[in-house]
Amino acid sequence: MAATNKNQKPHAIMISFHLQGHIIPFVNLALKLASKGFSVTFAHLDFIHHQISKSHYNTTEIDIFAQARSSGLDINYTTISDGFPVEFDRAANFNQHLESFMYKFPDKVDEFVGNLISSSDSNYFLLADTFSIWSAKIAKKYGLVNVSFWTEPALVFSLYYHLDLLRENGHVPVNGRTEIVDYVPGIPSINTKDFMSYFQDSDLQLLHKIIFRAFDVVKSADFILCNTVHELEIAIISALQQKQPFYSIGPLFPADFSKTAIARSLLPESNSDEWLNSKSPGSVLYVSFGSLAKIDKKVIFEIAGGLLLGEVNFIWVIRPGIVDFDSGGIFPEGFEDVTRDRGLIIPWCAQNQVLLNPAIGGFLTHCGWNSVLESVWCGVPMICYPLFTDQITNRKLVVDDWRVGLNLCDGEFITRDEVKEKIGILMSGKRSDELRKEIGKVRKILENALTKDGSSERNFDCFVKDVSDEIF
Ligand code: UDP
Repeated sequence: MAATNKNQKPHAIMISFHLQGHIIPFVNLALKLASKGFSVTFAHLDFIHHQISKSHYNTTEIDIFAQARSSGLDINYTTISDGFPVEFDRAANFNQHLESFMYKFPDKVDEFVGNLISSSDSNYFLLADTFSIWSAKIAKKYGLVNVSFWTEPALVFSLYYHLDLLRENGHVPVNGRTEIVDYVPGIPSINTKDFMSYFQDSDLQLLHKIIFRAFDVVKSADFILCNTVHELEIAIISALQQKQPFYSIGPLFPADFSKTAIARSLLPESNSDEWLNSKSPGSVLYVSFGSLAKIDKKVIFEIAGGLLLGEVNFIWVIRPGIVDFDSGGIFPEGFEDVTRDRGLIIPWCAQNQVLLNPAIGGFLTHCGWNSVLESVWCGVPMICYPLFTDQITNRKLVVDDWRVGLNLCDGEFITRDEVKEKIGILMSGKRSDELRKEIGKVRKILENALTKDGSSERNFDCFVKDVSDEIF
């Protein structure tokens, strides 16, 4: 264990994982830890820093946590290189980037942490995303307490955690079977079709290897933090707590839910307030598939067709690069005319702010975990169209367990008629009222968890105490 200095508070070294859905809660976690009196050194990868700076009106200041610091929080901000130049096209060279991330980046982290520790006698500990496969090795080398942060639900954590058990029983890889699994501790029953996409195929790609490795590594973490709420996943969390110190501390939202801090958003946000404010309450469907997933051109075409056939207003985020297409348009004939009147297409938005607008009556979502939590928080029921990774499993929570959403694509392939039908059911009528009633209950659970005596607040304070005890 590293030497401690009783006169100083604990100091978290946080190196963010470079995906949007991980960055948002990780930044929120850093701010929350600092608000509890910890010191934080927060590092974005330098290409992420560059992207954020570019997206936010060419922000040139290096310290993107300046606002937090000026309000008295002890956060130092820095950047770390992944070994490639900032301009390197990581998406086009995905495997090269991943490989380097797995095998070369840990040396950069080692150097970074080594330099930091030797520069002061702070009471450092390491707080890394669970996907950071280097964390245990670095923590061990420098004698640091090792905290792992999981950005997805405990259900998904538990399935990855029990990968060996699932393999022994022949349930992973799934290979198209639909069987009920009832032996994972804390999960009474789950259909294999609801397993994350990385469990579905036998083809083990580099990305699968990284994720599976991450769940070997997490078994040596001293503490695990999870962006979920105890009351939503009681049995799973209790089972995990039998294995390791596991704290549900979610939902990790910004202190002001409607504001985006520049440290979080990778793309410039279009402002849709004026358009939304011109629409009547509950009349607009928000459509977004998050920051990462690609969508087949045919799917976009059918969704647009469903929106064209239906009569609701819609605001649709179509991110640059979301569709791979050769040539020609991606929308059916007549769609552009509709967007002039009742539709708005934008490349990116401040999602929290959009969901909070009273005009929003439903969310057609890919079921990314942040989007699910944000939608529940705003009381907006969902149509679920999961694409890959944990989204498949998150759908189960939203539709089957909490009953706050509808499935899309009941058949083999999504059709415009089904899109139109589901939008109609979601936006108004008896089923819509039921969904709204149920989402109100789940929202209440989130709200209670975040009150002073709520489970997530208490768990956070408990973590703060436990990690301090471990350090001193
Ligand atoms: N988001 C946003 N603007 C958009 C689309 C998404 O700010 O136009 C945010 C959204 O609020 C969420 C995050 O990006 O916090 C996406 O994370 P999520 O877990 O939902 O999905 P992922 O992008 O990881 O698939």
